[in-house]
Amino acid sequence: MNGTTNDIMRDQDRFPTGVFTVSLDFELLWGTIDRSSRNSFRRLCAEERATIVDGLLDLFREFRLPATWCVVGQLFLDPEAAIAARRRLRSGARSNDSRLGDFSGLAKEELYARDLVRRIYDCPVPQEIGGHGFTHLPFTDPMCTAEAAAAELAQLQASARSMNLVLKSFAFPRNRVAHTALLAKFGYAIFRCQDASWHHQTNRRGWKHRLGHAWDIVRAAPPPVVMPARHPDGLWQVPGSMLFTPARGVRSAIPVARRVERAVKGLEAAAESGRVFHLWFHPTDLAPKSAEMLGGLRQILQCARHLRDEGKLQFMSMQSLAQMAAVFSQESQPVLAAAAGRSE
Ligand SMILES: [Zn+2]
Repeated sequence: MNGTTNDIMRDQDRFPTGVFTVSLDFELLWGTIDRSSRNSFRRLCAEERATIVDGLLDLFREFRLPATWCVVGQLFLDPEAAIAARRRLRSGARSNDSRLGDFSGLAKEELYARDLVRRIYDCPVPQEIGGHGFTHLPFTDPMCTAEAAAAELAQLQASARSMNLVLKSFAFPRNRVAHTALLAKFGYAIFRCQDASWHHQTNRRGWKHRLGHAWDIVRAAPPPVVMPARHPDGLWQVPGSMLFTPARGVRSAIPVARRVERAVKGLEAAAESGRVFHLWFHPTDLAPKSAEMLGGLRQILQCARHLRDEGKLQFMSMQSLAQMAAVFSQESQPVLAAAAGRSE
C-alpha cells in the first residue's frame, strides 16, 4: 500500500490504489417480460445462455477478476417453485402485475438458470453472486409498496438460500433506487446507484439523456471515477461509472473501439486518483456483435491487468469494495489509530 495509515486517515476521498469493479445484471427474459420488446429479446437471451456467460467466465478466469453478478431471484429456482412464488406475490398492489403470469408459452431455460448460476459460482476465480430483485419489479413502480418490496426481497433471499447463497450486493431493477432501509434490513452491505454521469441522474430518461449518453460514447468522453458512500440507512452505495453499452439499435453504429477507449480512460483515472472505475452491463448487452464486444472487453481487461501489475489498481467485487470502504471510513479511524499506536 502507498502512504501511511495517517495519510489515509486524512484523505477520505481516495483509496491507496485505484479500484476496478465490474457488476453485471443477470436476468434472462425477466428484464423485458412486461415489455413489447420481449420477443425480439429472446434471440439475445439464447445467445447469452449459449455463449456469452461462458465467454465472460473465461475472461474473468484468465484476468483473475472477481465480478459481481446481480441475479434476478427466479433464476435460482426450479420452474414449479418459481410459479408458486409468483402466485404468492400476486396480491394487494400487485394483483394485476403482468410479471406474475404463468408464461407457459416460454421455454423454461428462458426464465430459469440454476445451471448457469452454478457455473458462475464454480468459476475458479470466485465470482460474487448478488441480487437484482425477485421478479425485476422496479422499486419505484407504484405497485412496489413497502409491503411489495419486502415480499420481493424475502422471496429473493429464500431463492438464493435454496442454492446455499447469501446475497450481500444489490443492483436495483432498472437502477431505480428506493426502499433502501429494507435492503439494510435484509442484510445487504452495498448497492449500485445511478451512474455518476448527468444523463443517468434521473428516474425518467428522455431523449436528451439518451443523446447525451450516445455523444459521450462517440467522443469517448472520460467516464467518472467514483467512491462508495455510506447511505443514511447504514449500507454502502456506489454509482456506476460506465455502462458497456450494447451495440443495439442506433448504438450499433458506434464502433466498439470507442467504448474501449472510454473504459481505458476510466481505468487510468482510477489508477491515478485512487478512486473506483465501476463498469457494468448485462450479459445480453454483449449479444449483438458478441465476438467484437467480448474482444473489446478483453482489451479493457488487458489495460486493467497492466495497471494492476504496476501496483496502481486492485480488482474488487462490490462486497469487497464495501468491506474496504468500511475499513477506510471515518468511523473506523479509532480502530486504525489503535492499530497504528500498537505498531509504534
Ligand atoms: Zn435488470
